[in-house]
Amino acid sequence: KDAVEISVKDIDQLAKSSFPLCMRHMLDKLRENHHLKHGGRMQFGLFLKGAGLKLEDALAFWRAEFSQKVGSERFDKEYAYSIRHNYGKEGKRTDYTPYSCQKIISATPGVGDHHGCPYRHFGEENLRAALNKMGVSGHTLEEIMDKVKNRHYQLACTLTFEATHGVSCDSGINHPNQYFSESQKVLRA
Ligand code: SF4
Repeated sequence: KDAVEISVKDIDQLAKSSFPLCMRHMLDKLRENHHLKHGGRMQFGLFLKGAGLKLEDALAFWRAEFSQKVGSERFDKEYAYSIRHNYGKEGKRTDYTPYSCQKIISATPGVGDHHGCPYRHFGEENLRAALNKMGVSGHTLEEIMDKVKNRHYQLACTLTFEATHGVSCDSGINHPNQYFSESQKVLRA
């Protein structure tokens, strides 16, 4: 089991260097709207847990954003429970597992939702812009868009990983937390 811990103050930097596009997007939207709907809170919250964010830090992280929108009292009343729940501290005490790519790709985000896989759920222009922002362009970008057109979303994500890290990823990307840990391995080497 991975014993790496991350702290709240590192999240933005880690997002830039090591989060896959799906999770960068949700962090951007959370910072922008100070809110994420249920599907986003689950997908992103469980990812952060898997990346090593401890429960107390997770509560502080979500409270800091949500309290700007709904106030900290309402956060504590309506939202803190579900975060503790993700960590198995409420309800059936199930320790929820972070979602795999397969599960995220098969999600059906509605209007105002930001979860899902950008390779699958973004329109072409938005995806191109998001990849540009990660520093991907030219021939590599076209190769990625080609994988997307052929519905090979995880291959598109793998190519993005390779382009942004300058290494090959032979195993391929199949889990956002795998993307994160492979990235950290490369960057800490
Ligand atoms: Fe996230 Fe997986 Fe989609 Fe990559 S392929 S953006 S890790 S869901």
